[in-house]
Amino acid sequence: MEISEIASELLEKGEVSLIIGYDKKGYPCFIKDKEETKRLVFNEGCFNNLSVYLTRIKEKCAIVAKPCDVKSIIGLIQENQIKREDVVIIGVTCPGLNLKKCLSCDCQNPSFCDYTIGEKIGEKEKMDKFAEIIEFEKKNPRERWNYFKNEFSRCIRCYACRQVCPLCYCETCIVDVSIPQWISKANSSSSNFIFHITRALHLAGRCVGCGECERVCPMNIPLSLLNLKIEKDVFELFDYTPGKDVDLKPPFQTFKKGDYNEFIG
Ligand code: SF4
Ligand code: SF4
Ligand code: SF4
Repeated sequence: MEISEIASELLEKGEVSLIIGYDKKGYPCFIKDKEETKRLVFNEGCFNNLSVYLTRIKEKCAIVAKPCDVKSIIGLIQENQIKREDVVIIGVTCPGLNLKKCLSCDCQNPSFCDYTIGEKIGEKEKMDKFAEIIEFEKKNPRERWNYFKNEFSRCIRCYACRQVCPLCYCETCIVDVSIPQWISKANSSSSNFIFHITRALHLAGRCVGCGECERVCPMNIPLSLLNLKIEKDVFELFDYTPGKDVDLKPPFQTFKKGDYNEFIG
């Protein structure tokens, strides 16, 4: 079946009142009328992770999701931000788009969905996801510090990285709180640094590596490198990969007796 046929059927039966998908230009589109469902496609230009809209929509909907986007839907369910029964997942198989993250992508077929569109895709050769950060870790602490200091000093604090992130769903972000003001709104090197470190830590054990934050950054700041470092640490310390299994508890929601706790002293 095509996406449009499934969407049309879901709307007609009243199972959902909204479909979130892509149009032929790859732009997000929101369909409520079954006559409009023919606009829905999936092609090599469908970069956006549409799950970012799920926490902003208060009605039962269906969403077109690439296998990597399904990971953030799993994250939102684990964090009780959406209910599984309130979202119909139309998964699409994905051979990889022209994005950096696709080179090391480990999922071409959606594993957690209600419908699957597209032929099953066989295993393909992929880069080691952590290769870039393993290389970066070889730098000494001063070099690493300077690297990120320089990168973050270019940030214009547009917050596009936060807005596009499906897991940055806080009603009021820490940077927007004025009393007390945890992070200065000034676009200075030090406050930029604090913003990015804070955001990365808020995403620890939660960031699914969808790469949206880096993709939309107008200053091409390598945000994924920091996310990757945290993902690698969480994997090594807690044996956990975000977005993989909806039935697992993320590290911040549970504990195991043998958990790393040297930081407690
Ligand atoms: S890669 Fe970026 S946008 Fe995607 S979940 Fe992680 S922090 Fe959010
Ligand atoms: S940066 Fe932190 S406080 Fe701000 S939206 Fe993201 S998770 Fe919430
Ligand atoms: S999208 Fe880029 S420039 Fe904008 S706040 Fe995020 S890192 Fe800074």
